[in-house]
Amino acid sequence: MDEKRIVERFLEYIQIDSESRSEKKFADRLVKDLTELGLRVVRDDSGAKAGSDTDNIIAYLDGDPALEPLLLSAHLDTVPPGKDIVPVIKNGVIRSAGNTILGSDDKSGVVAIVEAVKTVIEENLPHRPVEMVFTVCEEVGLLGAKYLDYSLVKSKNAIAFDSGGDVGTIVNLAPGHIEIEATITGKAAHAGVAPETGISAIEAAAHAVSAMKLLRVDPETTANVGTFTAVGPNNIVPEKALLKMEVRSRNAQKLQEHSQHLIDCMQSACDKFGAQLHYTAETSYVTYHIPQDDPLIKLISESCEKIGAKVLIKPTGGGSDANFFNANGLHAVVIGTGMTDVHGVNESITVKNLVDCARLTLEMIKA
Ligand SMILES: [Zn+2]
Repeated sequence: MDEKRIVERFLEYIQIDSESRSEKKFADRLVKDLTELGLRVVRDDSGAKAGSDTDNIIAYLDGDPALEPLLLSAHLDTVPPGKDIVPVIKNGVIRSAGNTILGSDDKSGVVAIVEAVKTVIEENLPHRPVEMVFTVCEEVGLLGAKYLDYSLVKSKNAIAFDSGGDVGTIVNLAPGHIEIEATITGKAAHAGVAPETGISAIEAAAHAVSAMKLLRVDPETTANVGTFTAVGPNNIVPEKALLKMEVRSRNAQKLQEHSQHLIDCMQSACDKFGAQLHYTAETSYVTYHIPQDDPLIKLISESCEKIGAKVLIKPTGGGSDANFFNANGLHAVVIGTGMTDVHGVNESITVKNLVDCARLTLEMIKA
């Protein structure tokens, strides 16, 4: 493959700003590039739902109908600070100038997909049918994948290019995630004159939190209280306390059970102190597990071997578009593109990983 062209495309793409909800400029450029390759390109209607200025992009490369189609996906958006990125290449490593992220999350994935497809077209290589999905708003709650119009894709198998780790990394197991927001309401009273007529929301909330099993609950489950707010004057028994928390688990049943545990802790503390509990519990995304002997993992592993990349199959603690792909009936894993230190100004990627990721993609789609 043309290494120089892969790097050039990457440098160009990361210099088109695309922070979450403002992906339009980059999306338009990608649509132009995909259309020029002769691909059929459509957009869905996810933008308004996700709160973005543009929609998900779906592109199609026809291929040998006897071969299983494959869906390749990467996200268009970046986290901030992602404006006016100035790339610096030194000793085979690409970084930003130091005041922004780099954007290898996830433009390393976008570039690998585009360059692999461009190569099969240019070199007239036999290949499987390929569907490409480029999502908006991955970084703000997987919203592009959540609102993707799944009737536009026909593949059974999907690969999201969106993990750290060298090329060869395959993420086959990811947790589900539940967010709980709760308000504990007590009763205000003068703290000096008549405290016995009040109910302290802080006291009830503190009691609830101290009864919760938090942080690393077991090898596949975590829980965290991220917000505990109650602000008021010292002479008033506090009436309200706000708690925000999350539970993650790779086991769907434990995810539900542990969320219920947190709610139960709050309910029994409220009962003890005579306070009221109001809460919402929302499933952000569900867990998935693709077994190691699955044909999709076999396809990726064999392709890795062809380009000399070491295969590493591992679980993750985070969510990605693949959670929604799996929840919507696809069979999806995430692969590493070599991006490191993402979501910070030290983010980097090696030229080798950038090129290897495109080579791997070519092997996966070639017949
Ligand atoms: Zn990402």
